[in-house]
Amino acid sequence: MAEQHPTYIFWNNELTPWEDATVHVTSIAWSALGAVFEGIRGYWNAEQEQLHVFRITEHLDRLQSSTKLVRLPLAYTTAELTDVIVRLLRENVCREDTYVFPLVYGADAEVNRFDPNALASELTIRTKPMPSRLGSDFQQHARVSTWTRISDNVMPPRIKNISNYRNGQLATHEVRNDGYDVAFMLNPYGKISEAPGACIAHLAKGKLITPDVTSGILESITREAVITLAREELGLEVVERAVDRTELYLADEVFTCGTAAEITPIVSVDKYPVGAGRIGPVTRQIQQSLEDIMRGRNSQYARWVTTIDMALTTA
Ligand code: PMP
Repeated sequence: MAEQHPTYIFWNNELTPWEDATVHVTSIAWSALGAVFEGIRGYWNAEQEQLHVFRITEHLDRLQSSTKLVRLPLAYTTAELTDVIVRLLRENVCREDTYVFPLVYGADAEVNRFDPNALASELTIRTKPMPSRLGSDFQQHARVSTWTRISDNVMPPRIKNISNYRNGQLATHEVRNDGYDVAFMLNPYGKISEAPGACIAHLAKGKLITPDVTSGILESITREAVITLAREELGLEVVERAVDRTELYLADEVFTCGTAAEITPIVSVDKYPVGAGRIGPVTRQIQQSLEDIMRGRNSQYARWVTTIDMALTTA
């Protein structure tokens, strides 16, 4: 069966029919080298017939930072990109939990890959269904990988550069071949940095602790939301600092957080059970508060969602 695809992809400055958005095969090799992207999620609320896009401004501002750091021009402001994404979600009739994937890459990368000034960029934005796991019992077993996380002076983890993901891919292949679900990576100082596509937090002695932004992590938008919710909704003390791997072995709860990972409970690290070896109460509470906000059920955090009314759209 052919894979389902959306009607449109944003490319070449317009909503282009999916079938027409093609490039020549020779452009494959270098185009992804400096490419940067974002991962944004829309949450469907069936009762309201509304799609709520989570923290779109923060994601698009980060895309601006990513393009700046890799010296790719981006011809759109955050406000313009927001309009394009809202239009694309409407035209693709996204009446379900949806992932939005903007990608900026160098045009003519084959010839211009070492030229800091000659790079023109192109932008594609695509949408695809991505059902939420919040509210389920999904959980993972983690292993600390033997691969070291890239660092700021090597390939800055602070931005979403496609090339960065080779590092996490190696680590994931390693731990999955050994029967674990997710890799935890140490930075060059031997401290916990992050998982290949998500940040890490743990609960110990009633405090929520997470590696600080100079531990070699992406400045995750979900992590920032979790910190805010833990303080404001759960009344927890939150500490951002360097974290030892053995702190995770002794933690009461551990979870990863990110746009795709959402809040994923980690029930063991290197075969040490986390707490009682099952999903902890604080992890559950954070999952629940976040889902309420993401589905537009908590007006106190309305600033975090962009609501698209889909009542008049039909598939
Ligand atoms: N770290 C990495 C390497 C990631 O790819 C992601 C996913 N974007 C995250 C952390 C989580 O970031 P965010 O919460 O902004 O999605």
